[in-house]
Amino acid sequence: MQGDNHVTVLRLGHRPGRDERMTTHVGLTARALGADRVVMAGSASSRTDTVVDITDRFGGPFEVESTEEPKRLIRDFEGTVVHLTMYGEQIQDVEADIRAAHAEGPLLVVVGAEKVPFEVYERADYNVGVTSQPHSEVASLAVFLDRLYEGRELDREWEDPDRVVVPMETGKKVVDPNDREE
Ligand code: SAM
Repeated sequence: MQGDNHVTVLRLGHRPGRDERMTTHVGLTARALGADRVVMAGSASSRTDTVVDITDRFGGPFEVESTEEPKRLIRDFEGTVVHLTMYGEQIQDVEADIRAAHAEGPLLVVVGAEKVPFEVYERADYNVGVTSQPHSEVASLAVFLDRLYEGRELDREWEDPDRVVVPMETGKKVVDPNDREE
């Protein structure tokens, strides 16, 4: 999921106070489900620290950035722009085309909070709905990335983690991979 075909998630429209956890979850979901980078626009930049902290502890690579010029990032993005919106084309109808585009180059996935400016709809190569029902940017991002990678992101290996969760039927087990058993 690294290399020239990187996937960037752009978080637009963060409302201070109201969107704090949602914006953090956009970043954490982008990381966990295989994106290479999240860019937090404007006041969303207040949420970068948590995502950086999780990446430091649970592994990367994953880049966390902020921008004061999200419109410029979208406009000048050299690759395919996907905007997730309930008003878009149905994901099941366009996912194959988007996977083909991703095989050719980078992808920018834009998610909103409050109303997204119409120029984003116009610039986007694909306006994509995960159902045509209102729900959340975190849910739509998760489904979109899983469809993009066709589930391969679930088996991803993480580099340089300080802690690794050992999956188990019951209970919680977290190990430090740097600890050596004698
Ligand atoms: N009217 C908005 C829209 O265009 O989807 C709903 C706002 S919703 C609170 C915030 C964000 O969640 C949207 O900007 C969009 O990125 C995402 N979202 C919500 N429902 C979605 C859906 N069904 N499909 C794709 N994205 C969705």
